[in-house]
Amino acid sequence: MRPVIIAANWKMNTTPADAGRLAVTIAAASQAPGVVRVICPPYLSLAAVRDAVTGEGIDVGAQNVHHELAGAYTGEISAPMLAGLATWVILGHSERRRDALESDALINRKLARALESGLRPIVCVGEQLADRDAGSAEDVVAAQVRGCLAGLDAAALADGGLVIAYEPVWAIGTGRTASAADAAAMSEAIRRVVAEVGSPDLAAAVPVLYGGSVTSANIAEFLAEPSIDGALVGGASLKRDEMAGLVGQASITAAARAAAQAG
Ligand code: PEP
Repeated sequence: MRPVIIAANWKMNTTPADAGRLAVTIAAASQAPGVVRVICPPYLSLAAVRDAVTGEGIDVGAQNVHHELAGAYTGEISAPMLAGLATWVILGHSERRRDALESDALINRKLARALESGLRPIVCVGEQLADRDAGSAEDVVAAQVRGCLAGLDAAALADGGLVIAYEPVWAIGTGRTASAADAAAMSEAIRRVVAEVGSPDLAAAVPVLYGGSVTSANIAEFLAEPSIDGALVGGASLKRDEMAGLVGQASITAAARAAAQAG
């Protein structure tokens, strides 16, 4: 059975002091069984969040990592540097594809470094609005998945706990969401590609998250889809009550899935 995951992407928000305080309040407000909770603050706030959530059952993730382990890369952070600070990493977020011109080939190299370093990767894919309007959203996302996973061993991806986040670019931070049916269709398309370039076992095991203007008010529609295993949440994840609501809904889904599996 795949886990139900709520991953918080705090983007370029919070000082270390803010982040520690927010993480403490979220940890206290979002205690719901059966949900994997991950907070991804800015690099500088990783230590504060780690300290704030120690013993709370919340994991900590970075929002990016460099594609090399060390070297002349001014201002960059490598996977080994995250040891003891983060156990997850977001890769290929659309804001990095847009602002840092990250390509699927580069994300593929970052994914390799994450796997080698024991960081659990959340690989982000998603189409532009023009792609969806043109009817090519599935082709675009399939090409992204192929490019990001290219040449990587299916067993290593499974052992590394690969997660894929489907985040239509036009839904991120806009207040617009994909329909749950479209998001579910894309999750299934993603699994078909993972089965083809990885293995059927990997495709069955890989959690696929939806991301794009998810809130506590709309997450239930996405979680009602069996092919969607949680959410990558930006704006709403900076609010304690939103996180409590998101995790609460996810907990209901986790319990229902566990009951279905048991009986
Ligand atoms: C994100 O940052 O991945 C995201 C989905 O943002 P938001 O929830 O704000 O749309």
